Amino acid sequence: MNKFKAISAFLIILFLTVPSFSQGKKVKDLKFHHMQNYCWMRLATIIPEITDRIILPIGTVEAHGAVAIGADNFIPNNLAELIWDKCNALIAPPINHGFTGQSISQFPGSITVREDIFEEYIYDVLKDLVRTGFKNILIINGHGGNTEPAKRAMGRVHTETGAHFMIVDWWKIAFQTATEVYGRKATQSGHGDMEEAALVMSYDPALVDKEMYRKLGKDNVGKKGVEAGISLLPSWATTRYPDEGEGYLDFDIKKAKKYTLKKADYIANVFLEAVKRWEMMEAWKK
Ligand SMILES: [Zn+2]
Repeated sequence: MNKFKAISAFLIILFLTVPSFSQGKKVKDLKFHHMQNYCWMRLATIIPEITDRIILPIGTVEAHGAVAIGADNFIPNNLAELIWDKCNALIAPPINHGFTGQSISQFPGSITVREDIFEEYIYDVLKDLVRTGFKNILIINGHGGNTEPAKRAMGRVHTETGAHFMIVDWWKIAFQTATEVYGRKATQSGHGDMEEAALVMSYDPALVDKEMYRKLGKDNVGKKGVEAGISLLPSWATTRYPDEGEGYLDFDIKKAKKYTLKKADYIANVFLEAVKRWEMMEAWKK
């Protein structure tokens, strides 16, 4: 072996044995965990070497009784902030305008994007997240009207690209967390009720208007809802309690934080389990 060949061989061995700069690196080791903070060349070095996972928070702006009209945005954004590290995921710019229902669309501040437009919008966003290199996408949804159009959009992108998706409606999962923290029966949360207010207060207590809650009187800010068979436009309250006598606001911040962390942890664990299974199945395909 001449000198040149020996040096070449040494360099090749060095290249193969020295770990690449990104090996073992996690999102928490990066400068930012928000995708939009990077320039595109830097982002390209992160995906998929450091992560191919992203969290997309989606919500809407609508009346929520004494809770801020941005509740459906604050909640998924905050949940994403609480779990990106555990999930080793970046966070995508959120989608803050969604499909608000007719029954509260006429109150000040409520903004709605028509359902078909919203579906197409989500579809386009998801498609470009996948083109960017994200393979495992978690959508945290803060608003009921978004669920069906978002599910249709992610179904289309999944069929077209094979990318993996999970969408979570926080109010339909982990009912036991309300039981564990508040001692109330496990049931689906209402709207602008104790659970939703807790998730908002854990982010910022000032976002629930105590004065307005008092002025309205707790029984006037919400109702369980009318019987199936009766439809009201507008709805007879901008808050909906999950059950008779259940869901009154609790201004205990400590409990609110505890409740939020339990909810966040539950979502992170389900997503991590899903990614594990998706990756296992991908390996079998090869
Ligand atoms: Zn809401």
